[in-house]
Amino acid sequence: MVTTSCARDRVPRKHGNGKIVICAVVVAALASIPHAYAQSSPPRLQVDVEISSSEIARNAALMATAAQVGNAAADLGLDALFGSPDGRRIGPALRRLGQLWLVSMPIASLAQGRAHDFGHVARGHELGIATDSIEILQWPWPIPIAQSAERGAGVATDYETLAIFGGGQQGSHVQQELLLDRIYSRDHANYFDWVLFAYTQLDAPVYAWWDLRQERLTDAAIEIATSPDFDGVSDRRAVLGDYGQFAISMTRIETSGYSDAARVRRYADSLRHAAWMNVLDYSLWAGVVRVADYVITGDRAAPIPVLKIGRTAFVPGAYATLSSDGPEKGVRLRIVTPRYLPHVEVRWIDTLSNRRLWGVGAGVRTRSNARLGPELRTDVWQRDGKGAGFRFEAGARGQFTVGTRPLETSFRIGYKSEGYLADAPRKAGPLASVGVAMRF
Ligand SMILES: [Zn+2]
Repeated sequence: MVTTSCARDRVPRKHGNGKIVICAVVVAALASIPHAYAQSSPPRLQVDVEISSSEIARNAALMATAAQVGNAAADLGLDALFGSPDGRRIGPALRRLGQLWLVSMPIASLAQGRAHDFGHVARGHELGIATDSIEILQWPWPIPIAQSAERGAGVATDYETLAIFGGGQQGSHVQQELLLDRIYSRDHANYFDWVLFAYTQLDAPVYAWWDLRQERLTDAAIEIATSPDFDGVSDRRAVLGDYGQFAISMTRIETSGYSDAARVRRYADSLRHAAWMNVLDYSLWAGVVRVADYVITGDRAAPIPVLKIGRTAFVPGAYATLSSDGPEKGVRLRIVTPRYLPHVEVRWIDTLSNRRLWGVGAGVRTRSNARLGPELRTDVWQRDGKGAGFRFEAGARGQFTVGTRPLETSFRIGYKSEGYLADAPRKAGPLASVGVAMRF
């Protein structure tokens, strides 16, 4: 029996001065660099609907759309009630800051938390484990930090529990990539797009540092959490969260069912360090700068920030996540051109059989201002004990005018072989997705 439990705490732990210095350098460097990339004027509202055959991708997209529409509606509603908070004066800036904290951040926290929860649920479904309930333990108001727990039961091997505990972080990671595609496919992004992106990007580090902090990983907590009859939910003393349970599942696989505190802590250390990858992401800091700029200036939409080398606009990034086969790290690069958004990604998973499995992903998406163009996604990855796995999806994206309103539509169809991909089921099979986007 396995019972999944997920307490999503988002209180960052204190880290060493060295790391704070690195952070400060990253912020300073990125804040000084961003170039704006824009060729058109911003719409007031953009609504994206993407329906994928993959449960994890479908739900991450749905939650992002609900949040983006919800926040835009809140902006309009509050403007109608209290007037529009325009201008650089201190009063309107304070109102924007308050609204960011009390309205936008809670909406983002819930949407990202749901994408995370639905990641657990999707991996459970693949293994025949139904989730009976998702309970919100803490609403993200007035502190914009949500916590939730999923309850479900079924029979699962240690490898399967790795997939289920990692599934939450995978849901956040899938939403993160989806938002990067949405943001960089257009010339402008709304401040809320960056708020939501920051929540998805910080899910891994905040969660890892909170779950795996030394005060929480006590001998007593590990002993309870590794005992065979521990059910993971009702015993609140030892709920170590996804990262703690993921580390325990790793030690059980490595040692055929036995876990000791030293081994759990060794894995915990490696997961904590890996989470720094998410902090070293260009878009995270460009987005933070952008949100600060919105609070100061009141400009809700602004040109997308890019790094420029010569005439080429780059968006570099990095991440760490919990794959179903072990901890995964990756680096990614998007290139913004007037018509296309090509991307490439290199990633590696350190498995429990002490292998490093490499994967590469590449694709191209047609940007929103183009009438019609290709949409491609491909991945090739190493698998443990067999040959390489692959995914190939192809389709098109284009913009049409319906009446006076531009309507963007897209589709992709393809196939993947058996194996782990964050945004798709593990089993081999066809993949398909369709999308519609409207601007108002
Ligand atoms: Zn979780």
